[in-house]
Amino acid sequence: MSDITRLACQALDAQDSLAPLRGQFSLPAGMLYLDGNSLGPLPSATAARVQAVVTGEWGQGLISSWNSAGWIDRPRLVGDKIARLIGAGPGEVVAVDSTSINLYKVLAVALALVREGAPGRRRIVSERDNFPTDLYIAESLARQHGCDLTLAGADEIEAQLDDSVAVLMLTQVNYRTGRLLDMAALTARAHAAGALAVWDLAHSAGALPVDLRGAGADFAVGCGYKYLNGGPGAPAFVWVHPRHAARMDAEARWQPLSGWMGHATPFDFTPGYQPGAGIGRFICGTPSAISLAALECGVDTLLAAEACGGLAALRRKSLALSDLFIALVEQRCAGHGLQVQTPREHARRGSQVSLYLDPADGDAYAMVQALIERGVIGDFRAPGILRFGLTPLYLGFAEVWDAVDHFAQVLASGQWREPRFSRRSRPSHRTTVT
Ligand SMILES: *Cc1c(COP(=O)(O)O)cnc(C)c1O
Repeated sequence: MSDITRLACQALDAQDSLAPLRGQFSLPAGMLYLDGNSLGPLPSATAARVQAVVTGEWGQGLISSWNSAGWIDRPRLVGDKIARLIGAGPGEVVAVDSTSINLYKVLAVALALVREGAPGRRRIVSERDNFPTDLYIAESLARQHGCDLTLAGADEIEAQLDDSVAVLMLTQVNYRTGRLLDMAALTARAHAAGALAVWDLAHSAGALPVDLRGAGADFAVGCGYKYLNGGPGAPAFVWVHPRHAARMDAEARWQPLSGWMGHATPFDFTPGYQPGAGIGRFICGTPSAISLAALECGVDTLLAAEACGGLAALRRKSLALSDLFIALVEQRCAGHGLQVQTPREHARRGSQVSLYLDPADGDAYAMVQALIERGVIGDFRAPGILRFGLTPLYLGFAEVWDAVDHFAQVLASGQWREPRFSRRSRPSHRTTVT
Protein backbone atom coordinates (compact mmCIF):
# COMPACT_ATOMS: atom_id res chain seq x y z
CA MET A 1 0.00 0.00 0.00
CA SER A 2 1.34 3.43 -0.87
CA ASP A 3 2.03 5.82 1.94
CA ILE A 4 -0.88 7.84 3.28
CA THR A 5 -0.07 11.51 2.86
CA ARG A 6 -1.04 14.41 5.06
CA LEU A 7 -2.64 15.94 1.98
CA ALA A 8 -4.96 12.95 1.65
CA CYS A 9 -5.93 13.37 5.32
CA GLN A 10 -6.62 17.06 4.79
CA ALA A 11 -8.90 16.08 1.92
CA LEU A 12 -10.83 13.79 4.27
CA ASP A 13 -11.20 16.68 6.72
CA ALA A 14 -12.50 18.93 3.95
CA GLN A 15 -15.27 16.40 3.19
CA ASP A 16 -16.11 15.72 6.84
CA SER A 17 -19.62 16.93 7.62
CA LEU A 18 -18.93 16.48 11.37
CA ALA A 19 -15.90 18.79 11.34
CA PRO A 20 -17.87 21.88 12.49
CA LEU A 21 -18.73 20.08 15.77
CA ARG A 22 -15.19 20.70 16.92
CA GLY A 23 -16.10 24.36 17.34
CA GLN A 24 -18.02 23.30 20.45
CA PHE A 25 -14.78 22.75 22.38
CA SER A 26 -12.05 24.87 23.89
CA LEU A 27 -8.95 22.79 23.23
CA PRO A 28 -5.49 24.23 23.91
CA ALA A 29 -3.86 25.46 20.69
CA GLY A 30 -1.39 23.01 19.24
CA MET A 31 -2.48 20.08 21.40
CA LEU A 32 -3.46 16.79 19.81
CA TYR A 33 -5.79 15.38 22.44
CA LEU A 34 -6.11 11.60 22.19
CA ASP A 35 -7.31 11.05 25.75
CA GLY A 36 -11.01 11.84 25.57
CA ASN A 37 -11.62 8.24 26.62
CA SER A 38 -10.16 9.19 30.01
CA LEU A 39 -11.27 12.80 30.46
CA GLY A 40 -13.33 14.56 27.79
CA PRO A 41 -12.27 18.12 26.91
CA LEU A 42 -13.95 21.34 28.03
CA PRO A 43 -16.96 22.37 25.93
CA SER A 44 -16.96 26.09 25.07
CA ALA A 45 -20.41 26.49 26.62
CA THR A 46 -19.50 25.05 30.02
CA ALA A 47 -17.67 27.96 31.65
CA ALA A 48 -20.46 30.46 31.01
CA ARG A 49 -23.14 27.96 32.02
CA VAL A 50 -21.40 27.09 35.28
CA GLN A 51 -20.78 30.77 35.92
CA ALA A 52 -24.49 31.47 35.48
CA VAL A 53 -25.41 28.66 37.84
CA VAL A 54 -22.94 29.88 40.44
CA THR A 55 -23.48 33.64 40.35
CA GLY A 56 -27.12 33.78 39.26
CA GLU A 57 -28.87 30.64 40.39
CA TRP A 58 -26.85 30.12 43.54
CA GLY A 59 -25.63 33.66 44.29
CA GLN A 60 -28.90 35.46 43.61
CA GLY A 61 -31.54 32.74 43.64
CA LEU A 62 -30.16 30.94 46.65
CA ILE A 63 -32.46 28.26 48.02
CA SER A 64 -35.35 29.15 45.71
CA SER A 65 -33.24 27.86 42.79
CA TRP A 66 -33.99 24.28 43.78
CA ASN A 67 -37.35 24.98 42.19
CA SER A 68 -37.04 28.18 40.14
CA ALA A 69 -33.87 27.05 38.36
CA GLY A 70 -34.98 23.42 38.32
CA TRP A 71 -32.00 22.06 40.24
CA ILE A 72 -34.19 19.37 41.75
CA ASP A 73 -35.20 18.04 38.32
CA ARG A 74 -31.72 18.11 36.81
CA PRO A 75 -30.78 14.44 37.44
CA ARG A 76 -33.84 13.38 35.42
CA LEU A 77 -33.53 16.01 32.70
CA VAL A 78 -29.87 15.24 32.09
CA GLY A 79 -30.74 11.54 32.40
CA ASP A 80 -33.32 11.93 29.63
CA LYS A 81 -30.68 13.49 27.39
CA ILE A 82 -28.23 10.67 28.10
CA ALA A 83 -31.04 8.18 27.38
CA ARG A 84 -31.02 9.36 23.75
CA LEU A 85 -27.41 8.22 23.43
CA ILE A 86 -27.82 4.74 24.90
CA GLY A 87 -31.06 3.37 23.48
CA ALA A 88 -33.15 4.11 26.57
CA GLY A 89 -36.45 5.91 26.88
CA PRO A 90 -37.39 9.11 28.71
CA GLY A 91 -37.83 8.64 32.45
CA GLU A 92 -35.50 5.64 32.50
CA VAL A 93 -32.15 7.28 33.37
CA VAL A 94 -30.92 9.56 36.16
CA ALA A 95 -27.56 11.35 36.29
CA VAL A 96 -26.27 11.02 39.85
CA ASP A 97 -23.38 9.85 42.00
CA SER A 98 -20.34 8.08 40.56
CA THR A 99 -20.15 5.03 38.33
CA SER A 100 -18.89 2.97 41.25
CA ILE A 101 -21.81 3.97 43.49
CA ASN A 102 -24.39 3.41 40.76
CA LEU A 103 -22.92 0.01 40.06
CA TYR A 104 -23.29 -0.85 43.72
CA LYS A 105 -26.99 0.03 43.61
CA VAL A 106 -27.91 -1.91 40.48
CA LEU A 107 -25.75 -4.92 41.19
CA ALA A 108 -27.33 -5.25 44.62
CA VAL A 109 -30.81 -5.07 43.11
CA ALA A 110 -29.96 -7.55 40.37
CA LEU A 111 -28.58 -10.00 42.95
CA ALA A 112 -31.68 -9.65 45.09
CA LEU A 113 -34.07 -10.11 42.16
CA VAL A 114 -32.43 -13.35 41.08
CA ARG A 115 -31.49 -14.82 44.43
CA GLU A 116 -34.81 -14.39 46.19
CA GLY A 117 -36.27 -16.96 43.80
CA ALA A 118 -33.08 -18.98 43.38
CA PRO A 119 -30.80 -18.76 46.42
CA GLY A 120 -28.59 -21.46 44.92
CA ARG A 121 -27.37 -18.98 42.32
CA ARG A 122 -24.28 -17.77 44.05
CA ARG A 123 -22.04 -16.41 41.34
CA ILE A 124 -21.37 -13.00 39.84
CA VAL A 125 -19.47 -13.40 36.57
CA SER A 126 -17.27 -10.67 35.13
CA GLU A 127 -14.27 -10.14 32.90
CA ARG A 128 -10.86 -10.54 34.51
CA ASP A 129 -9.58 -7.34 32.88
CA ASN A 130 -12.64 -5.31 33.80
CA PHE A 131 -11.88 -1.93 35.30
CA PRO A 132 -10.87 -2.54 38.93
CA THR A 133 -13.55 -0.43 40.62
CA ASP A 134 -16.22 -2.60 39.02
CA LEU A 135 -14.54 -5.70 40.37
CA TYR A 136 -14.04 -4.18 43.83
CA ILE A 137 -17.71 -3.23 44.06
CA ALA A 138 -18.71 -6.73 42.94
CA GLU A 139 -16.32 -8.20 45.50
CA SER A 140 -17.97 -6.24 48.27
CA LEU A 141 -21.45 -7.34 47.26
CA ALA A 142 -20.32 -10.92 46.83
CA ARG A 143 -19.08 -10.85 50.45
CA GLN A 144 -22.31 -9.38 51.75
CA HIS A 145 -24.49 -11.84 49.86
CA GLY A 146 -22.34 -14.89 50.51
CA CYS A 147 -21.62 -15.11 46.77
CA ASP A 148 -18.52 -15.63 44.66
CA LEU A 149 -17.07 -13.40 42.01
CA THR A 150 -15.92 -15.43 39.00
CA LEU A 151 -13.50 -13.70 36.64
CA ALA A 152 -12.98 -14.99 33.12
CA GLY A 153 -11.09 -13.89 30.02
CA ALA A 154 -13.22 -12.07 27.44
CA ASP A 155 -13.51 -15.19 25.30
CA GLU A 156 -14.37 -17.48 28.22
CA ILE A 157 -17.30 -15.51 29.64
CA GLU A 158 -20.03 -17.46 27.83
CA ALA A 159 -18.68 -20.76 29.07
CA GLN A 160 -19.18 -19.54 32.65
CA LEU A 161 -22.91 -18.98 32.27
CA ASP A 162 -24.84 -21.79 33.91
CA ASP A 163 -27.50 -22.25 36.57
CA SER A 164 -25.12 -21.25 39.36
CA VAL A 165 -24.89 -17.67 38.04
CA ALA A 166 -26.99 -14.83 39.43
CA VAL A 167 -25.57 -11.85 37.55
CA LEU A 168 -23.34 -11.24 34.56
CA MET A 169 -21.62 -7.89 35.05
CA LEU A 170 -19.57 -6.54 32.16
CA THR A 171 -18.11 -3.36 30.76
CA GLN A 172 -19.10 -3.05 27.11
CA VAL A 173 -15.73 -1.65 25.96
CA ASN A 174 -12.60 -2.73 27.81
CA TYR A 175 -10.62 0.25 29.11
CA ARG A 176 -7.24 -1.29 28.36
CA THR A 177 -7.70 -3.00 25.03
CA GLY A 178 -10.60 -1.06 23.53
CA ARG A 179 -12.33 -4.36 22.77
CA LEU A 180 -16.10 -4.10 22.31
CA LEU A 181 -18.25 -6.95 23.63
CA ASP A 182 -21.49 -8.04 21.95
CA MET A 183 -24.04 -6.76 24.44
CA ALA A 184 -27.07 -8.34 22.78
CA ALA A 185 -25.50 -11.79 22.43
CA LEU A 186 -24.03 -11.92 25.94
CA THR A 187 -27.23 -10.61 27.49
CA ALA A 188 -29.20 -13.27 25.64
CA ARG A 189 -26.80 -15.93 26.90
CA ALA A 190 -27.11 -14.65 30.46
CA HIS A 191 -30.90 -14.72 30.22
CA ALA A 192 -30.88 -18.21 28.72
CA ALA A 193 -28.88 -19.30 31.78
CA GLY A 194 -31.42 -17.63 34.08
CA ALA A 195 -29.13 -14.75 35.09
CA LEU A 196 -29.47 -10.97 34.77
CA ALA A 197 -27.05 -8.74 32.85
CA VAL A 198 -25.56 -5.52 34.25
CA TRP A 199 -23.60 -3.37 31.78
CA ASP A 200 -21.08 -0.62 32.43
CA LEU A 201 -21.05 1.86 29.55
CA ALA A 202 -18.08 3.93 30.81
CA HIS A 203 -16.23 3.56 27.51
CA SER A 204 -19.22 3.23 25.19
CA ALA A 205 -21.79 5.92 26.11
CA GLY A 206 -21.10 8.77 23.71
CA ALA A 207 -18.44 6.71 21.95
CA LEU A 208 -20.68 4.53 19.80
CA PRO A 209 -24.39 3.85 19.36
CA VAL A 210 -25.59 1.82 22.35
CA ASP A 211 -28.96 0.07 22.30
CA LEU A 212 -29.80 -1.00 25.84
CA ARG A 213 -33.44 -1.73 25.11
CA GLY A 214 -32.68 -3.47 21.83
CA ALA A 215 -30.10 -5.66 23.57
CA GLY A 216 -32.60 -6.51 26.32
CA ALA A 217 -30.08 -5.47 28.98
CA ASP A 218 -31.32 -5.42 32.58
CA PHE A 219 -29.32 -2.63 34.24
CA ALA A 220 -26.66 -0.17 33.11
CA VAL A 221 -24.37 2.46 34.55
CA GLY A 222 -21.92 4.81 32.87
CA CYS A 223 -19.48 7.63 33.30
CA GLY A 224 -20.03 11.37 32.78
CA TYR A 225 -16.47 12.60 32.39
CA LYS A 226 -15.16 10.44 29.55
CA TYR A 227 -16.95 10.53 26.19
CA LEU A 228 -19.78 12.64 27.66
CA ASN A 229 -17.38 15.55 28.32
CA GLY A 230 -19.02 16.40 31.65
CA GLY A 231 -15.84 17.50 33.45
CA PRO A 232 -13.64 15.87 36.08
CA GLY A 233 -15.71 13.84 38.52
CA ALA A 234 -18.94 14.60 36.64
CA PRO A 235 -22.04 12.77 37.85
CA ALA A 236 -22.43 9.30 36.36
CA PHE A 237 -25.72 7.75 35.24
CA VAL A 238 -27.86 4.73 35.94
CA TRP A 239 -30.51 2.94 33.87
CA VAL A 240 -32.94 0.22 34.82
CA HIS A 241 -34.99 -1.65 32.24
CA PRO A 242 -38.66 -0.65 32.55
CA ARG A 243 -39.65 -4.27 33.27
CA HIS A 244 -37.53 -4.20 36.41
CA ALA A 245 -38.59 -0.65 37.29
CA ALA A 246 -42.23 -1.77 37.07
CA ARG A 247 -41.55 -4.79 39.25
CA MET A 248 -39.72 -2.64 41.78
CA ASP A 249 -42.74 -0.33 41.84
CA ALA A 250 -45.18 -3.20 42.26
CA GLU A 251 -43.16 -4.70 45.11
CA ALA A 252 -42.14 -1.36 46.69
CA ARG A 253 -38.62 -2.66 46.31
CA TRP A 254 -35.60 -0.70 47.58
CA GLN A 255 -32.17 -0.16 46.21
CA PRO A 256 -29.63 -0.39 49.04
CA LEU A 257 -28.64 3.30 49.20
CA SER A 258 -32.07 4.45 50.32
CA GLY A 259 -31.39 8.18 50.65
CA TRP A 260 -34.05 10.81 51.05
CA MET A 261 -33.88 12.08 47.45
CA GLY A 262 -34.99 8.65 46.28
CA HIS A 263 -37.92 8.67 48.70
CA ALA A 264 -41.46 8.81 47.30
CA THR A 265 -42.11 12.11 49.12
CA PRO A 266 -38.78 13.53 50.31
CA PHE A 267 -40.24 16.82 51.46
CA ASP A 268 -42.73 15.17 53.81
CA PHE A 269 -39.71 14.34 55.99
CA THR A 270 -41.34 11.16 57.26
CA PRO A 271 -39.14 8.88 59.38
CA GLY A 272 -39.78 5.72 57.34
CA TYR A 273 -38.40 5.08 53.86
CA GLN A 274 -40.69 4.55 50.91
CA PRO A 275 -39.03 4.20 47.53
CA GLY A 276 -39.91 6.72 44.84
CA ALA A 277 -41.32 5.51 41.54
CA GLY A 278 -39.24 3.96 38.78
CA ILE A 279 -35.70 5.20 38.28
CA GLY A 280 -36.34 7.98 40.82
CA ARG A 281 -35.46 5.69 43.72
CA PHE A 282 -31.92 5.39 42.35
CA ILE A 283 -31.26 8.98 43.37
CA CYS A 284 -29.68 8.90 46.81
CA GLY A 285 -28.69 12.28 48.26
CA THR A 286 -28.90 15.89 47.11
CA PRO A 287 -28.00 16.29 43.44
CA SER A 288 -24.88 18.25 42.55
CA ALA A 289 -26.38 21.26 40.75
CA ILE A 290 -23.12 22.82 39.53
CA SER A 291 -21.67 19.54 38.28
CA LEU A 292 -24.93 18.62 36.58
CA ALA A 293 -24.87 21.93 34.69
CA ALA A 294 -21.40 21.08 33.38
CA LEU A 295 -22.44 17.53 32.53
CA GLU A 296 -25.45 18.81 30.60
CA CYS A 297 -23.16 21.01 28.47
CA GLY A 298 -21.02 17.95 27.76
CA VAL A 299 -23.99 15.76 26.79
CA ASP A 300 -25.25 18.58 24.57
CA THR A 301 -22.05 18.41 22.50
CA LEU A 302 -23.07 14.88 21.50
CA LEU A 303 -26.73 15.70 20.96
CA ALA A 304 -25.59 18.49 18.63
CA ALA A 305 -24.44 15.73 16.27
CA GLU A 306 -28.07 14.65 15.81
CA ALA A 307 -28.38 17.33 13.12
CA CYS A 308 -25.64 15.66 11.07
CA GLY A 309 -26.26 11.97 11.45
CA GLY A 310 -25.95 11.54 15.21
CA LEU A 311 -24.07 8.70 16.82
CA ALA A 312 -24.19 6.58 13.66
CA ALA A 313 -22.23 9.27 11.80
CA LEU A 314 -19.90 9.74 14.76
CA ARG A 315 -19.30 6.00 14.82
CA ARG A 316 -18.43 5.93 11.11
CA LYS A 317 -15.92 8.71 11.63
CA SER A 318 -14.52 7.11 14.79
CA LEU A 319 -13.86 3.87 12.91
CA ALA A 320 -12.33 5.77 9.99
CA LEU A 321 -10.06 7.70 12.38
CA SER A 322 -8.93 4.55 14.14
CA ASP A 323 -8.44 2.66 10.84
CA LEU A 324 -6.27 5.57 9.72
CA PHE A 325 -4.35 5.58 12.99
CA ILE A 326 -3.65 1.85 12.76
CA ALA A 327 -2.62 2.05 9.10
CA LEU A 328 -0.27 4.96 9.80
CA VAL A 329 1.28 3.27 12.84
CA GLU A 330 1.91 0.18 10.72
CA GLN A 331 3.46 2.25 7.93
CA ARG A 332 5.52 4.64 9.97
CA CYS A 333 6.21 3.01 13.34
CA ALA A 334 7.16 -0.51 12.21
CA GLY A 335 10.28 -2.24 13.48
CA HIS A 336 9.95 -1.20 17.12
CA GLY A 337 7.96 -4.17 18.40
CA LEU A 338 4.61 -2.38 18.69
CA GLN A 339 1.53 -4.54 18.36
CA VAL A 340 -2.02 -3.35 17.75
CA GLN A 341 -3.94 -4.75 20.71
CA THR A 342 -7.38 -3.45 19.81
CA PRO A 343 -9.36 -5.83 17.60
CA ARG A 344 -9.36 -4.74 13.97
CA GLU A 345 -12.89 -5.85 13.26
CA HIS A 346 -15.15 -2.85 13.51
CA ALA A 347 -17.80 -4.81 15.39
CA ARG A 348 -15.30 -5.63 18.12
CA ARG A 349 -13.77 -2.27 18.87
CA GLY A 350 -14.73 0.88 20.73
CA SER A 351 -13.37 4.37 20.03
CA GLN A 352 -9.79 3.90 21.18
CA VAL A 353 -6.75 2.13 19.81
CA SER A 354 -4.36 0.39 22.21
CA LEU A 355 -0.85 -0.56 21.20
CA TYR A 356 1.20 -3.02 23.16
CA LEU A 357 4.95 -3.02 23.60
CA ASP A 358 6.65 -5.84 25.43
CA PRO A 359 8.71 -4.15 28.18
CA ALA A 360 11.71 -6.13 26.89
CA ASP A 361 11.43 -4.24 23.58
CA GLY A 362 11.20 -0.72 24.99
CA ASP A 363 9.58 1.55 27.53
CA ALA A 364 6.01 2.35 26.49
CA TYR A 365 5.68 4.71 29.45
CA ALA A 366 8.63 6.79 28.24
CA MET A 367 7.21 6.87 24.71
CA VAL A 368 3.92 8.24 25.99
CA GLN A 369 5.79 10.86 28.03
CA ALA A 370 7.82 11.91 25.00
CA LEU A 371 4.59 12.28 23.02
CA ILE A 372 2.96 14.30 25.79
CA GLU A 373 5.91 16.72 25.77
CA ARG A 374 5.18 17.25 22.08
CA GLY A 375 1.52 17.96 22.81
CA VAL A 376 0.27 14.54 21.71
CA ILE A 377 -1.80 13.41 24.68
CA GLY A 378 -2.35 9.69 25.00
CA ASP A 379 -1.83 7.54 28.05
CA PHE A 380 -0.07 4.49 29.41
CA ARG A 381 -1.32 1.41 31.23
CA ALA A 382 1.13 -1.00 32.79
CA PRO A 383 2.96 -3.02 31.76
CA GLY A 384 3.20 -1.88 28.14
CA ILE A 385 -0.06 -0.43 26.81
CA LEU A 386 -0.19 2.87 24.93
CA ARG A 387 -3.79 4.07 24.68
CA PHE A 388 -5.08 6.57 22.13
CA GLY A 389 -8.68 7.78 22.17
CA LEU A 390 -10.00 8.63 18.70
CA THR A 391 -12.90 10.95 19.39
CA PRO A 392 -14.74 12.08 16.25
CA LEU A 393 -16.44 15.09 17.87
CA TYR A 394 -13.26 17.11 17.93
CA LEU A 395 -10.50 15.17 16.14
CA GLY A 396 -9.73 15.37 12.45
CA PHE A 397 -7.87 13.13 10.03
CA ALA A 398 -4.86 15.43 9.57
CA GLU A 399 -4.51 15.55 13.35
CA VAL A 400 -4.29 11.77 13.45
CA TRP A 401 -1.62 12.01 10.77
CA ASP A 402 0.28 14.62 12.82
CA ALA A 403 0.04 12.51 15.99
CA VAL A 404 1.51 9.45 14.28
CA ASP A 405 4.14 11.68 12.64
CA HIS A 406 5.29 12.71 16.12
CA PHE A 407 5.22 9.10 17.23
CA ALA A 408 7.37 8.04 14.25
CA GLN A 409 9.87 10.80 15.11
CA VAL A 410 10.01 9.80 18.77
CA LEU A 411 10.74 6.21 17.75
CA ALA A 412 13.13 6.85 14.86
CA SER A 413 15.24 9.34 16.82
CA GLY A 414 15.18 7.23 19.97
CA GLN A 415 14.10 10.39 21.79
CA TRP A 416 12.00 8.35 24.21
CA ARG A 417 15.24 6.97 25.68
CA GLU A 418 16.09 10.35 27.21
CA PRO A 419 16.11 9.71 30.96
CA ARG A 420 13.56 12.40 31.81
CA PHE A 421 10.83 10.45 30.02
CA SER A 422 11.20 7.31 32.09
CA ARG A 423 11.11 9.05 35.46
CA ARG A 424 7.97 8.04 37.31
CA SER A 425 8.43 10.01 40.51
CA ARG A 426 5.30 12.10 40.07
CA PRO A 427 2.38 9.81 39.32
CA SER A 428 0.18 11.80 36.97
CA HIS A 429 -3.58 11.70 37.10
CA ARG A 430 -3.59 10.06 33.70
CA THR A 431 -1.56 7.15 34.92
CA THR A 432 -3.90 6.43 37.81
CA VAL A 433 -7.45 6.98 36.55
CA THR A 434 -9.04 5.52 33.42
C1 LIG B 1 -13.88 5.17 34.28
C2 LIG B 1 -14.56 3.96 34.77
C3 LIG B 1 -15.19 3.95 36.01
C4 LIG B 1 -15.10 5.16 36.89
O1 LIG B 1 -15.76 4.99 38.09
P1 LIG B 1 -15.81 6.20 39.11
O2 LIG B 1 -16.77 5.77 40.12
O3 LIG B 1 -16.21 7.42 38.33
O4 LIG B 1 -14.43 6.42 39.63
C5 LIG B 1 -15.86 2.80 36.39
N1 LIG B 1 -15.90 1.72 35.58
C6 LIG B 1 -15.29 1.71 34.39
C7 LIG B 1 -15.37 0.50 33.53
C8 LIG B 1 -14.58 2.82 33.95
O5 LIG B 1 -13.97 2.80 32.78
